[in-house]
Amino acid sequence: MLTQRPRGMHDILPQEASLWHEIEEAARRICARYGFSEVRTPILEHTELFQRGVGENTDIVEKEMYTFNDRGGRSMTLRPEGTAGAVRAYVEHKFYGGPQPIKWFYLGPMFRYERPQAGRQRQFHQFGVEVFGVADPAVDAEVIALGLDFLEDIGLEGLRLELNSVGCPQCRPMYRERLQAYYRPLREQLCEDCRDRLERNPLRLLDCKRETCKALAERAPRIEEALCEECRAHDEGVHRHLEAAGIAYEINPRLVRGLDYYTRTAFEVVEDGIGAQGTVLGGGRYNGLVEELGGPSVPGIGFAAGLERLILALEQRRGEGTSETGVDVFGIALGDEASVELTGWLRRLRALGCRAERGFEGKSLKAQLKAADRLGARWALILGEEERRRGVVMVKDLAGGEQRELPVLEVESWWKETEHGTGR
Ligand code: ATP
Ligand code: MG
Repeated sequence: MLTQRPRGMHDILPQEASLWHEIEEAARRICARYGFSEVRTPILEHTELFQRGVGENTDIVEKEMYTFNDRGGRSMTLRPEGTAGAVRAYVEHKFYGGPQPIKWFYLGPMFRYERPQAGRQRQFHQFGVEVFGVADPAVDAEVIALGLDFLEDIGLEGLRLELNSVGCPQCRPMYRERLQAYYRPLREQLCEDCRDRLERNPLRLLDCKRETCKALAERAPRIEEALCEECRAHDEGVHRHLEAAGIAYEINPRLVRGLDYYTRTAFEVVEDGIGAQGTVLGGGRYNGLVEELGGPSVPGIGFAAGLERLILALEQRRGEGTSETGVDVFGIALGDEASVELTGWLRRLRALGCRAERGFEGKSLKAQLKAADRLGARWALILGEEERRRGVVMVKDLAGGEQRELPVLEVESWWKETEHGTGR
């Protein structure tokens, strides 16, 4: 127990960190281009926020949340997703009172008690965006374009964008009834979960992953035939904007987000190379959510991308990551006095931006040179007792092999010239 991490949770080790940084930097870069600002909300929220914000009848709320009572007896939950917290912050800080749209992004860990497998963890990370306050289909296309630009920027190719409309509170109830009428006579052929969903949340039957349920979903009535005039117009608008942006999409009539306040646009981006958990990004419009969470009636739309799945896809493409941080100077001191002196100038060199390392524990010159080599250092600065007494240091070019003496007082100006010379 003591030496084992919790099931479904992972250490991100130094050799993977550079890939994480790349992805996070890409997210920030693309968001800046689209005018989205970062929001950081608490990892812990009141349980009620997710019950309402994600929905009582969802897998997440029914069986996946990490919920506990805090010491004051309040029910708290580790956030399973980012939208509910973002909406809460939007309402709590009255962002609806100013000019719209409000465009936010977030990056951070999420928690769901799921069965761990490839691409599915209990702690995972999402990059997500939300736009509040504008119902224009141009926003839907912008959000989708942002997501695809991000995925392309980090180097993913061959992705599929799937798109659907899930209607609105005007037209969806009728579609719901049509679906129930289709499924009720087939009840016995459904899996246990779907039998359960049939009365409570029949739209979810369409995205059941079991083969038998999938086959039945193929022949189910399609929502596009049931959409009201406004939803149809919105949907066509989204298609036109996407086409203008040169974005290819596939209509998937079985793509649903089974919550009442999801409205109209629903979309997913799928990467086919990483197995069953191939959805790397999912999102949709939620015109009823802000009101559901105590705010005014304000439209919203967003997506979230699972970063572990992106890492999986990228590692498959590029092979393992590296931990290269780069070292400019490796300081080698021979003797105690020299070691103390080295501590002084390493600090001054680092203040100049030099990436400096050193040997410890009075190891031999040979052992320390080996350590410098292992780190890929460019220069070794060697300070022996005899040099120290003379006020000089030996500079060894570890790439070329030449070495020369340098007065200790000139070490900083040597670095400035060297750094300048390398054009770094
Ligand atoms: P799935 O059908 O894969 O369970 P979901 O509908 O629960 O996905 P969302 O809540 O829409 O997923 O989250 C958006 C994205 O976050 C997913 O497309 C996926 O990339 C990622 N994601 C969701 N759950 C996990 C998890 N347990 N581990 C890793 N990534 C996840
Ligand atoms: Mg899920």
